[in-house]
Amino acid sequence: MLVSAKEMLNKAREGHYAVGQFNINNLEWTKAILLTAQEQNSPVILGVSEGAGKYMGGYDAVVGMVNGLIKNLGITVPVALHLDHGSFEGAKACINAGFSSVMFDGSHYPIEENIQKTTALVNACDVLGISLEAEVGSIGGEEDGVVGAGECADPAECKMIADLGVTMLAAGIGNIHGKYPANWAGLSFDTLAAVKEQVGDMPLVLHGGTGIPEDMIKKAISLGVAKINVNTECQLAFAAATRKYIEEGKDLQGKGFDPRKLLAPGFEAIKATVKEKMELFGSVGKA
Ligand SMILES: [Zn+2]
Repeated sequence: MLVSAKEMLNKAREGHYAVGQFNINNLEWTKAILLTAQEQNSPVILGVSEGAGKYMGGYDAVVGMVNGLIKNLGITVPVALHLDHGSFEGAKACINAGFSSVMFDGSHYPIEENIQKTTALVNACDVLGISLEAEVGSIGGEEDGVVGAGECADPAECKMIADLGVTMLAAGIGNIHGKYPANWAGLSFDTLAAVKEQVGDMPLVLHGGTGIPEDMIKKAISLGVAKINVNTECQLAFAAATRKYIEEGKDLQGKGFDPRKLLAPGFEAIKATVKEKMELFGSVGKA
C-alpha cells in the first residue's frame, strides 16, 4: 500500500539521513527501484514527472502499475508515489488518480500566486492524507521543458510557503537538474542554513541529486535536507549498460534480442545506482 511521504521524511530529518526520490519511466525502472528498496530495507519515494506520467499512459496507469508491483513483489517497505514538479492541474489529477504525494511547483509564479495555489492544495491534501511538496526559488537546468536558472531561494519566502502547512519544501540552493557543468559553483550552504533557520523542522528537499559530490550531500543532510531527488543518474546508468550490451553484439547472439534480455543490464544498472544512493543518503535499514 502506498503511504504519504510525511512520516518517512520526519523520521529521516530526526535521524539525520535522507530518503531518495527516484524517478520512474516504465516497468523496468519501477521494479528495479522497488526491489532495491526492499532488499535494502529502505523507505523510498517514486517520482513521476508530468511528462513521464503521460509517457506511461497516464496517471491511472502509473498508480495501477505501482500498486500491482507492490502487491505482487511483496514490497513491505514504505513507498510513496509522488508527482514531481507538478502544475496545479497536474497535482489535482494525481490526487484524484491515487498518488500518495504530490509536488506543486509554483516557483515560476510571483510569490503571491504560489502561496494562493499552494494553499488550495494544502487543504485538499490534508483531507486525503497526501503529502505535499512546495518549491521556492527555481532549480536550475531543464525539467520537462521548464528551464530554471538555479537561483537561491529567498529564506523569507520559504517561511511564507512553509507556514501554509506543506509537508516538505524544495528550496533552490544553486542545485540544478541534469549533469552539472564543470564550472558549477557548488551548493550554497549559507542559503540552506538561512532557509533552515526560517522553516524550523520542515523537511527540506534537494533536487538535482545527480553529480553533487558526496561531501556536499552529507553536509546538506546535516543542515535539514531529508529528501534527495535522483533522476538523471539512473538514466545514464541504464543507457550505458544498454549501450554496452548492444556494442558487444549480445542482441545478435541467440535470443539476445528478447526485451527481457536486452533490458536486463540496464535494469541491473538502475538497481546498483539506487543501492549506492540509499547507502550515501543513509536510508538503508530505516524502513
Ligand atoms: Zn526537480
